[in-house]
Amino acid sequence: MTEEEVFEHEATCFLERHACPRAPEELRWGEGPEELTIFHETTGAAEQREVEEAKRWQATRWQAGFGWICGPPQYGGRGLPASFDRIYRSVEAGYAVADLSPLRIGLSTVGPSLVVNGSDVQIRRFAVGVHAGDIVACQLFSEPDAGSDLANLKTRAVADGKVWRLSGQKVWTSNAQFADVGLALARTDPDAPQHRGLTAFLVPMDSVGVQVRPIRQLTGGASFNEVFLDDVEVADDLRVGATGEGWRVALSTLSTERTATGDRSHALTGRGFRLLRTLARRQGQGDDPAVRQALAHLHARLEVARYHQLRIQAAAYGEGEGPPRAMDKLLLAGNLQAIGEVAARLLGPKVAADTGEWGTYAWSRWLLGATGYRLGGGTDEILKTMIAEKALGLPRAPS
Ligand SMILES: Cc1cc2nc3c(=O)[nH]c(=O)nc-3n(C[C@H](O)[C@H](O)[C@H](O)COP(=O)(O)OP(=O)(O)OC[C@H]3O[C@@H](n4cnc5c(N)ncnc54)[C@H](O)[C@@H]3O)c2cc1C
Repeated sequence: MTEEEVFEHEATCFLERHACPRAPEELRWGEGPEELTIFHETTGAAEQREVEEAKRWQATRWQAGFGWICGPPQYGGRGLPASFDRIYRSVEAGYAVADLSPLRIGLSTVGPSLVVNGSDVQIRRFAVGVHAGDIVACQLFSEPDAGSDLANLKTRAVADGKVWRLSGQKVWTSNAQFADVGLALARTDPDAPQHRGLTAFLVPMDSVGVQVRPIRQLTGGASFNEVFLDDVEVADDLRVGATGEGWRVALSTLSTERTATGDRSHALTGRGFRLLRTLARRQGQGDDPAVRQALAHLHARLEVARYHQLRIQAAAYGEGEGPPRAMDKLLLAGNLQAIGEVAARLLGPKVAADTGEWGTYAWSRWLLGATGYRLGGGTDEILKTMIAEKALGLPRAPS
């Protein structure tokens, strides 16, 4: 047996012991939940339960050696190439296990960023904590005037003896409502050029002066928050990287964020497309040449995105970043939007007015959610600029 086959067998044995096989989803019109949301949107006790379940499952994986498959062995990872992570994910997809969405930012963004930028102690405490299912992390980067133009951020960090004092406002912070720690960017030198005066910190979310306020979305849920920092004391040993080196930390964090954003969702688009085909038939439009053409066009787009992602995943670690990742995320965001638009065309007014009919009005959530996907992890325009400059060699956009 090859090393991969041995690993796959080991993963299957682990999952057989700890989870039940997942019954294949049979999409039957009118039966079961419609589930056409793009962003996860539970609140209150249900949300708390999901967080606990996610942490428990991650802890189980960690104890069995599947919690950090590509992680550095000196920190408890397996040190295996990304192909092994893929093998594990494809085996796990066949089992009914807890949804790890509440941990996603820690596992895919903050954890990897700390491995590159953090101190040994920070990696042991936070990156390991995240992978062991003990800690939930969030990313405190965006501000009201600093999204695409992140270097414009205004949150200040002022040195005060052995601590820093952070004040400012963050926004669109996913999962802040239940996070234990946030990776924050703050301005430490207001006189330095915009990109140079920034520093990164790990902010314990239960610190005095941290206030988290949920933002109600178009879709009704509240997956994001405003986070207010009012003279929050942060120990100097929670500074990530050198003072003034925050931009470097931010860039390496954002590159892992883009990796994570594109990775998730081919199951989602595939399911959406299957529902859409059924919808066309139910609406009596299955034979309409224009509808058939729209569906064929969508199918081709989804296949292009799937093959593109397979190619990225086959690349060696560290290759296939930058423009290929930007394309992956653009394709996905565009496909989510295109699926929603075809649904809206098929449904007409039913997408905006709830008639109670199964599988119709629920598409409004898809349409509204798709818009968010085009922003988070880098907007379409920013990603296109990256492709234009780095892949096509076009002149740099004026700043
Ligand atoms: C689902 C989701 C999850 C998120 N989670 C987090 C999180 O956990 N933590 C966090 O810190 N942030 C998070 N964000 C915020 C996200 O990073 C920002 O929304 C994003 O960077 C865009 O910033 P903005 O919303 O301020 O829009 P802006 O930057 O103001 O952009 C508005 C519009 O102007 C366009 N634009 C801006 N600059 C240019 C330019 N130079 N050239 C061409 N067009 C331009 C944009 O493409 C966009 O269409 C999340 C956002 C979403 C939607």
